[in-house]
Amino acid sequence: MTVQSAAPVATPEREPVAVPAIELRDVTRSFPGPPEVQALKGVSIAVGEGDYVSITGPSGSGKSTMLNILGLLDRPTVGEYRLGGVLTSSLGEDDRAAVRARQLGFVFQAFHLMSRRSVLENVLLPMLYNGTPRAEREPRAREALQRVGLGHRIDFLPGTLSGGERQRVAVARAVASRPRVLLADEPTGNLDQATSAEIMDLFEELHADGLTLVVITHDGAVARRASRQVRLTDGRVSDAG
Ligand code: ADP
Ligand code: MG
Repeated sequence: MTVQSAAPVATPEREPVAVPAIELRDVTRSFPGPPEVQALKGVSIAVGEGDYVSITGPSGSGKSTMLNILGLLDRPTVGEYRLGGVLTSSLGEDDRAAVRARQLGFVFQAFHLMSRRSVLENVLLPMLYNGTPRAEREPRAREALQRVGLGHRIDFLPGTLSGGERQRVAVARAVASRPRVLLADEPTGNLDQATSAEIMDLFEELHADGLTLVVITHDGAVARRASRQVRLTDGRVSDAG
């Protein structure tokens, strides 16, 4: 694959300027309809490497639309999305899929684990397709499961785990390939308060380890755990945090 991160821009008198992990510039996403809906209306935001950002906003404010764009599952109608300095609109579908598999980790509300596969197999599976060298797959999967506190559950089936444990498996699956950014859409939406707190503790630890996190949530308590809170209202950034 030919996709590479842009090098930091050196200026004569200053330190090199860091390239943001994520940068949206004036992004609009319209759904043609009729009636046409502008789900995002000129959104600009930059997320630095290692930042932990939450995105909140009422239902219909454009959160999922934004996450789909950040996750390379959708494209802006107008505007630019740079991931690690690379202009994603210049990538073809194959490169977008490769970047998605290698650089992005996803955590969803509904866990999306395969019920007939063991915990270890669930974490291993994405690594079959994203270029992780064969010899590194299982060690990385085991390490990720240790990381989320599930080293003793690797042979279990997801159905035998609690909701919080299932979401921790999903987090292990997302981070095992060492992505540049972790994207989460309502990661605590199916969890009770105590279990949500466990997942939030885990996100904080991953942040401390240097991972970049973008967490979409309608839960204020979850949003406040991030180091920066961005608010969307009616398709616009109403508070950039
Ligand atoms: P949120 O996740 O904040 O609840 P969404 O991003 O899902 O909001 O939706 C933002 C707006 O865009 C809503 O008005 C929604 O109905 C509209 N929308 C989202 N996806 C589509 C689609 N595929 N086609 C038409 N309208 C859509
Ligand atoms: Mg949504």
